[in-house]
Amino acid sequence: MISSPLARGACPSLSAPMLTGDGLLVRLNPLEPGFLPHILAGIAEAAARHGNGIVEITSRGSLQVRGLTEKSAVLLAGDVAALGIRPRTGVPVETSPLAELDPKENPATAELAANIRSLVSTGGLSARLGPKVSVIVDGNGSLTLDGLAADIRLLALDRSADRWLLATGGDGRTCRPVGVMNSADAPHAVKTLLERIAARGKSARGRDLGDADIAALARGPRPAPAPAEIPIKASPVPIGRFALSNGNAALGLGLEFGQTEAADLIGLCDRASRLGASEIRLAPAHAILMLGIAEERLDEMGEMAARLGMIVEPGDPRLSIAACPGAPACHAGHFAARKIAAGIADAHGAMLDGSFRLHVSGCEKRCARPSGPTLTIVGAAAGARFEVSAAAQARTLARADERGIAPAFARIAQACRDGRKTSETFADVLARLEPLRDDEEFGQPR
Ligand code: SF4
Repeated sequence: MISSPLARGACPSLSAPMLTGDGLLVRLNPLEPGFLPHILAGIAEAAARHGNGIVEITSRGSLQVRGLTEKSAVLLAGDVAALGIRPRTGVPVETSPLAELDPKENPATAELAANIRSLVSTGGLSARLGPKVSVIVDGNGSLTLDGLAADIRLLALDRSADRWLLATGGDGRTCRPVGVMNSADAPHAVKTLLERIAARGKSARGRDLGDADIAALARGPRPAPAPAEIPIKASPVPIGRFALSNGNAALGLGLEFGQTEAADLIGLCDRASRLGASEIRLAPAHAILMLGIAEERLDEMGEMAARLGMIVEPGDPRLSIAACPGAPACHAGHFAARKIAAGIADAHGAMLDGSFRLHVSGCEKRCARPSGPTLTIVGAAAGARFEVSAAAQARTLARADERGIAPAFARIAQACRDGRKTSETFADVLARLEPLRDDEEFGQPR
């Protein structure tokens, strides 16, 4: 079965690849939290053999292989099975990528997540829910999951007490708090809420739950009232070193715009293996975490990753950019999105202050689609358009042909610097920036 690219809410998997502008795409979420280095290298080899050699890690930390055909997608699935990888099935119950290794995380996190998985796997519940419905169990450790949306969320209110905030819809900031529970009662409450979502049909999500659905929890253990203030702890990007409970450290590395060549990933896995890595985990924000390398050798790992163009510093401006593959990898692309994005990061890194996301999209489909305030450069047959958007409103700032994109961005950056008041972010300035004058030349968009 192939998912239509227009079927929003569809999830590509090994058995149901999705059609994109560069062929079929599959997303791989293994049951285990990490890969042995040679197994991840094996997947990259299969991606090069059967796809176009591009491997991606998504903003939620899933692995994607691009550029497949109907026939080669089947061969890839066979190779993945031969590597002994068991794909995750059922409702995703996500935890931090440092689960069970993080000294700051609530120690009940992994067991609570396992109990929820076990409970919701019964009664055919997964089959009655839409493919994107997910549960997050956030142990409130070094890498929180507040930036990820979930249908049902459990957040440890502190490290050592057995108090979990139950919430529905949204991300860590926008979710609807329901109440506070202990870890013994929480799985039943999660299942009740998932049943209520399922009862609304396959397109329903956690955000659709209303007061009557929440009231259904009264039939089981009742949650205590939620605290007036939710202790939101913004998660750092998973780049750099993170202390582990065993006294060692994990090293987080980011893929530039979430993508790497299979050959580079194979080289990275090979070096990681020789440096003693025991496991490689995928993390949100397009990152990977190297585990098991002795601290004194982590610099060697980071240096190699940097040579491959990967992100090794949490302040790297490329982390503020979402770029799709664009041309030539994707036939729908009107320009080389990632090349343009890399050029902008190089020339205008200071403007990428984290207050907005730059989205470089080869066409109107906008596959990368970041959230929050965004400056988008979107390709179309008539030329590229610069759009600034906040609070679901978008307006056009400039138009350019492909060669005019860099000069147009430079002009916008200059206007932002000129108009910026002390203490303003670049997102603030972009929100009130006037469109560039029509007589400014940025190529010849038709
Ligand atoms: S947004 Fe980018 S990757 Fe998606 S179809 Fe368009 S050009 Fe291809």
